[in-house]
Amino acid sequence: MKRYREALNYSIKVVIENKAISLGKAHRLLYKVLKEKYGLPSKIAIDCYREAIAIAKSWLKNTNKGKIPRANNFRIWLTYGQSYRIKGDYVELLGGYRLKIIGLDRRYDSYPNKDARLLLKDGKFILKISKRVPEPAKYDPKGVLAVDVNEKQIVVGNRKSEYRFDTNIERALHYKQLAENLQKKHSSFKYIASLKRGGIKRRIKSFYRKARNIIEDWAKKTSHEIVALAKQYQYEVDREDLTNLVENLRKLPKEHKVSLLILSYRRLEHWIDWQCEKQGVPIAVINPKGTSSICPICGSKLVENGYRKLKCNKCGFEADRDTIAVINIEKKAYKKMGGSLTTPTAPQMTDVIPNR
Ligand SMILES: [Zn+2]
Repeated sequence: MKRYREALNYSIKVVIENKAISLGKAHRLLYKVLKEKYGLPSKIAIDCYREAIAIAKSWLKNTNKGKIPRANNFRIWLTYGQSYRIKGDYVELLGGYRLKIIGLDRRYDSYPNKDARLLLKDGKFILKISKRVPEPAKYDPKGVLAVDVNEKQIVVGNRKSEYRFDTNIERALHYKQLAENLQKKHSSFKYIASLKRGGIKRRIKSFYRKARNIIEDWAKKTSHEIVALAKQYQYEVDREDLTNLVENLRKLPKEHKVSLLILSYRRLEHWIDWQCEKQGVPIAVINPKGTSSICPICGSKLVENGYRKLKCNKCGFEADRDTIAVINIEKKAYKKMGGSLTTPTAPQMTDVIPNR
């Protein structure tokens, strides 16, 4: 494992420096060295540069890349049928090593095994196997659950009912400010020495991490609740495409809140899509153009009517702007489905806060 780790770090460097992300090129550059200098068996040598390619690829894709990535733990990437196989109660590794299986994940089944990672952690070997899980079939939606976002809330629903989730920006902001204050306080010249000692640097870092974790946990939890709601009523989830919103936020002066908002929206999008795939809930992405400025009844332009309220001067319709956005997203979703605007079959959500 030690040899593998050294070989892997060497391979990552070579792959990145030569942009050798094809198997052929990596093979030519590395195979012989990995075998001769690092003493890896042929098949493990192949696994090693394959892993290096995977790590290099994700690093090259990352736009704000830091230092070249390094493997620090003891682990070996293994290919099923080539460098490991499962035989009865044993995992057989290349080179004749046999590890007794003392427990299997309950989801372990006969789906084709893909790559595995052998880890050595606290004196124990753990074999992590990635495997395909069957994608659940998606149902035919009986209605639409529209998702609208604003700075303070995520509003989901349709014309019949509505549900609101608070964002967690303020809590995350608290930790981000702690980090920034600390950074400001210690940025003057006389503090540089203490910064270098690392203690304060670590604290600043941990506050930033805490802020990001708050957002991530919130996005996971909220998306889970939204998708569960859709599944319960057999709705399709229709979320706005937030790309433009995020782009516009990026143009704003660099205020700390803005970056947390961007992060929140991005993570929420990611987890909603992921949850939908996992739970077999149909999902569509809706173009947000006009969703919060056009009357959902008659299509006229809405005018402001107090705080977060909009009114249609033509037909008299008035509502909270998020409620309007939800109805407009729902309308667009039906149009996209090719169905009619009125769908009497859509069951009404009962245990939610009604919008009026
Ligand atoms: Zn109107």
